[in-house]
Amino acid sequence: MNIALIAHDKKKPEIINFVTAYYEILKEHQLFATGTTGQKIAEATGLSIFRFQSGPLGGDQQIGSKIADNEMDMVFFFRDPLTAQPHEPDITALLRLCDVHQIPVSTNLAGAEIMIRALDRGDIEWRKIVKDRKDQV
Ligand code: PGA
Repeated sequence: MNIALIAHDKKKPEIINFVTAYYEILKEHQLFATGTTGQKIAEATGLSIFRFQSGPLGGDQQIGSKIADNEMDMVFFFRDPLTAQPHEPDITALLRLCDVHQIPVSTNLAGAEIMIRALDRGDIEWRKIVKDRKDQV
């Protein structure tokens, strides 16, 4: 699965803890992240992560583009609801595209815990079928 990891600044320690806790699951997948989130997770865990631009510089939109192309299977987006973000329109656009394309997305740790266990259990395998079907069209 192609998995996107994004965290606003105040949530970066939380996503690092999350990825560390679920390292054994996540290491089996292709990981993508916005720039700073990816750098910090890679430094903390040693995982190989493809890094897009930093979020405020277009990273959220780049991940949105992967979703529009049916190339992203899950999004873990640890949002900070208490701090204004300069790239709020990009965040809204990314979440909208998840809804448009039925991409599983969690915007906080509690949802992420459920989603990662679902991934481990095989509950997201339907994404492979959806992807194969679209490849044939
Ligand atoms: P960052 O971007 O990982 O480059 O900090 C995250 C965001 O704010 O969208």
